[in-house]
Amino acid sequence: MNKLVLRDRLLDFFFPQVTCMLCGSAEQVQGGFCAECIGKMEPYRSRRIPKDAPYTGAISCFVYEDKVREALRMMKFRGQFDLPVRFFAGKMAEEVRKAHWKCDCVVPVPAEPRYERKRGYNQSEKLASRVAALLDLPMEKKALRKKRGTRSQVGLSMKQRMENMEGAILPGKSDVSGKTVLLVDDLMTTGATVHACAQALMKMGAKAVYVVTAAHAILEPDYKEKIKD
Ligand SMILES: [Zn+2]
Repeated sequence: MNKLVLRDRLLDFFFPQVTCMLCGSAEQVQGGFCAECIGKMEPYRSRRIPKDAPYTGAISCFVYEDKVREALRMMKFRGQFDLPVRFFAGKMAEEVRKAHWKCDCVVPVPAEPRYERKRGYNQSEKLASRVAALLDLPMEKKALRKKRGTRSQVGLSMKQRMENMEGAILPGKSDVSGKTVLLVDDLMTTGATVHACAQALMKMGAKAVYVVTAAHAILEPDYKEKIKD
């Protein structure tokens, strides 16, 4: 049995989460959330990628709204991240399996060193290591790194985000040449971050890059119309 799976079983046995972390209900709670809250999480259905994308495919599991937003936020707090990470990583691994992507390794989107130090961990790395364990793939934790002093993406336009991210993602210590990489992040907003990461991985000689994120922010008002076709 995988070490992480064993650890989860022991934790669930000795310290079961009996109430929903999102609403406090004790009804039908599994893995930290109740069936009602999980039912309110809307799957993200679009699998389209931009024409100039340096990655071959992208999957986001949920629409970044309500319960999903709250659950993702919990991953940023020590002492709360474990169950949400397990929940989202489980979904991400499931979707990657369904898509039949053949990847060789998993790489997390890097965090800025100062944020990671402050928090003590990078939530994308937590997600990535669990996705890697579930898919039985090696994790290349240090394949990418983020330059110090990168401006926050909040409040920037798509063009500004692209410019801001350009040169902010640097090659790290792992060798990804010839490999098909599964890039993992918690949230996709405009896609500027994964674009920069995938570009860096391709420059490092990766064969192909696939992207999986827990959630996707809805920026286009016509998203719900578009997914119908
Ligand atoms: Zn609930």
